[in-house]
Amino acid sequence: MCKEVNISILGHVDHGKSSLLAAISNSFSKVGIAPLVPYEQIDLAVIGGDEGLKLNRAQIKISGANKDFIVSDYPSHQDFVKSMIFAPTIDGILLVVSAADGPMPQTREHLGLARKVGVEKIAVLINKIDMVGKSLQEMVVNEVKQLLNDVGFKSSACPIIYGSALQARKCGCGKKECSNCGFLFDILNSFENYFALNGKVQEKETLLILNEFSDTPFGMVLGKGTFVSGKISKEDSLTILTKSTTKTVKVKGLEIDGEPKEEVYNKGQVSVYVEGVSAKDVEKGTPLYKNGLNNIKKSFNSLCYIFRKEEDGRIEPLPKESQLSVSIFGRLIEAKVELPKDRETLLPGDSSFAKVHLSKEFFLKKGFSFYLVEDGKNIGIGKIVEVGE
Ligand code: GDP
Ligand code: MG
Repeated sequence: MCKEVNISILGHVDHGKSSLLAAISNSFSKVGIAPLVPYEQIDLAVIGGDEGLKLNRAQIKISGANKDFIVSDYPSHQDFVKSMIFAPTIDGILLVVSAADGPMPQTREHLGLARKVGVEKIAVLINKIDMVGKSLQEMVVNEVKQLLNDVGFKSSACPIIYGSALQARKCGCGKKECSNCGFLFDILNSFENYFALNGKVQEKETLLILNEFSDTPFGMVLGKGTFVSGKISKEDSLTILTKSTTKTVKVKGLEIDGEPKEEVYNKGQVSVYVEGVSAKDVEKGTPLYKNGLNNIKKSFNSLCYIFRKEEDGRIEPLPKESQLSVSIFGRLIEAKVELPKDRETLLPGDSSFAKVHLSKEFFLKKGFSFYLVEDGKNIGIGKIVEVGE
């Protein structure tokens, strides 16, 4: 079972996301389960990124009873959207809604996006309860529940917590029974008992993407690449997608950092000796996978985001149909990208579904992320939401 649980904070600007993360940090540092990071630093949100994608975010790691919770706060709409589309896993969303303002139109868009990329669990903090009375708080809760149901979440299953991030941040005593800080422990409780339970089971399907090949003296090919998921043992029979077809190969040896292994299962760099293929038949970004998997396809539906000019992206909108390339696990494949019926263009900084038709087959799976590439430059990102033919 996965030991790290990824949680993103979502909420309209000024509803208190960064204050909440600062409060969490302040209180939980007192009990030794999180580092102390001041609000100013969280509010600033330095550039970080997943697998090469630049985005602004602040992250705090909370050491829970059995798992670590990585809680991320994004300063802008674009950063949140980018993380939703490109992050390998999002186990849950902590929605912050100001009780004084209620949910905002963009919150609906964010929740809809989260739903489309497969997020299933949401906990809600009704924040700023120091500013308004009980009856107004309840009105906001009803609005939030309606919104969650509208976009396809089951609101009855979502933990709803009430608090004031500002007061908790200022107090920071870290005591469960404190009237200012206590709700932070309810939030932690929702992490432990809601987000971490029945979370996404780690991917077990065997997939290795090989990037370098050389023929060896004993009729074997040495392939070096990145382990994506699953497990490989010596003598396993696997399938390789060559330049022209699929072939069955036999694993004759495995190495990590030059050390021979009987089996490999962790993500990372792996060398593998295989029998049954020649180095000239394979190229960078070659999938090696378990026999019988039916993942070699040419088209998929995706959720895409186009980088803005400030993100070193596009200036012009993407037209209804474009000839681009996609880069999946570093493999560059020419592709036709087609927007849905109701969209004429896709503006930089905006996201949309898009059908992708590859010029060549590849190992495709729901949830895989990719870059959209134009003239050798990354102009956007996407996530596969449904594999086609
Ligand atoms: P963000 O844009 O969602 O990250 O919001 P911030 O955490 O930066 O907070 C925006 C403003 O709301 C700041 O001035 C905070 O001090 C204030 N604020 C945040 N939480 C509360 C709260 O619980 N009560 C009150 N009264 N103000 C709050
Ligand atoms: Mg903020």
